Amino acid sequence: MSETINVTRSSLPPFEEYCAEIRSIWDSHWLTNMGEKHQRLEKALQEYLGVENVVLLTNGHLALENILEALDLHGEIITSPYTFASTTHAIVRCGCTPVFCDIDPETYTIDAGKIEALITEKTVAILPIHVYGNLCDVDEIDRIAKKHHLKVIYDAAHAFGVKKDGVSSACFGDASMFSFHATKVFNTVEGGALCFADFSLRQTVCDLKNFGIHGPEEVPFVGGNAKMNEFCAAMGLCNLKHLDRWLLERKAVVEQYRARLGGVPGIKLNRDQPGVESNYAYFPVIFDGYKYNRDEVFARLAEQGVIARKYFYPITNSFACYKDRPGFDPELTPVAKYMGDRVLTLPLYAGLGADDVDRICDIILG
Ligand SMILES: *Cc1c(COP(=O)(O)O)cnc(C)c1O
Repeated sequence: MSETINVTRSSLPPFEEYCAEIRSIWDSHWLTNMGEKHQRLEKALQEYLGVENVVLLTNGHLALENILEALDLHGEIITSPYTFASTTHAIVRCGCTPVFCDIDPETYTIDAGKIEALITEKTVAILPIHVYGNLCDVDEIDRIAKKHHLKVIYDAAHAFGVKKDGVSSACFGDASMFSFHATKVFNTVEGGALCFADFSLRQTVCDLKNFGIHGPEEVPFVGGNAKMNEFCAAMGLCNLKHLDRWLLERKAVVEQYRARLGGVPGIKLNRDQPGVESNYAYFPVIFDGYKYNRDEVFARLAEQGVIARKYFYPITNSFACYKDRPGFDPELTPVAKYMGDRVLTLPLYAGLGADDVDRICDIILG
């Protein structure tokens, strides 16, 4: 049997590059607490993402919890269940109530046309998710939010480096959260960031990630600990140098999948959005009416050592931990349920070989 192909493989810089970057940590003995690497990575990302404020955090999830606290949100937050556990959990863990909106069947992101019907006097924010490298309908969401005085926080964990008409995905809404987890397009091993335009938010976000400590003798918030350490920031500095090439390699893989699987009856592929420069974070395929159903394709691939992922499945409003909670019902979001039951994301990473992509397609088509 050929070598196992996993759904993703973490991108790494050349070993020597990372060693050279961390050498100065041995000189300074400064391992964490907003050191030199941390400061340099924040600046580099501000430039790369074209946004005024970047605050680094331990991971994307804590970034979400941080911004919900920083914006002092209490009440209902409109979101969608077609996401990773983190989005819904962050809302619940911060004491707010998720209100689930269905998704658009073409982009897998929140169906902006269905948001307004869900707004009540308790609604405080919208927390939409950019999915797979596709962007939400940011203009319509902005219009709705302004009209109803709601905050907008994007879960942009899948959208690092994505642009719409040349504008970075980090620039939409009141804030955007990015994840730099090992499996993401850009990684710092574990890590995350918040991006926002309003400078006055910055101090609160920074205080909250450091125990609410504002100065040596001043503690205005009940904060947690969500600082990024110097080793993770160093990984980010190294990876950022290679990112543009990695994005091109991902795009080449997607184009090969499209050439092989496009136009096959019963197989639906994710399309590029007009005006959007994708990062090709994931390659979702919907199996509906194909000779094999999703679970059969998954099993056939696994037999041959190809590990695809049912992502997102199960959708978050059907999680066991939310059983019997009012409003948590996958039947209320039929499009999200439909996609969750039929989707498979295929292996996709920088450096995945053309022969491997052919092998994967042969198994699916065989
Ligand atoms: C990865 C991910 C997160 C969580 O990020 P971590 O850095 O792993 O904490 C949140 N939302 C989505 C959509 C993700 O894919």
